[in-house]
Amino acid sequence: MAVGNPWVRVGKVPFGRGVFARQDIPAGTTLGVVTGKILDDPDYASSYCIDLGDPLSLEPHAPFRYLNHCCVPNSHLHTVDAEYEDGTPAPPEVHVEALLDISKGEELTIDYQWAASGAIKCLCGSSGCRGWVVAKEELDDLLKSQAVEIPKPRKSKRNSAVVQP
Ligand SMILES: [Zn+2]
Repeated sequence: MAVGNPWVRVGKVPFGRGVFARQDIPAGTTLGVVTGKILDDPDYASSYCIDLGDPLSLEPHAPFRYLNHCCVPNSHLHTVDAEYEDGTPAPPEVHVEALLDISKGEELTIDYQWAASGAIKCLCGSSGCRGWVVAKEELDDLLKSQAVEIPKPRKSKRNSAVVQP
């Protein structure tokens, strides 16, 4: 899967790179395994690393390194237990799965679900944007602990009802 993933390609977005669908992708499709470097360091942190459960994390390689965050994502990561050939437990594999039908050319996004301590402002622009790149369950803590300013709603979208599909 490392070379020439049939489902996705890396492309440019205004602030860097992103992952785009090479073809129409039905919801539920497994798009590949995230390959990368596994680090055995509980203090390791980077913008891209994926938590594999203490103390392991995965520093992903392309293409999935470039999955961008969206508060209403069309894809997600899930871990799958793995073992070495001799049957001993190995670090889990991280699979990328489409949550929704994704059209050819569309950008794939995941919800980073960051802890409040690492949150940054979110620019995803989706109708369900939480304003921060942070896990849903951490949002209240973030707003309380930092006494942050919630971005002032502009007149248009934020005040109108969100229409659920
Ligand atoms: Zn957002």
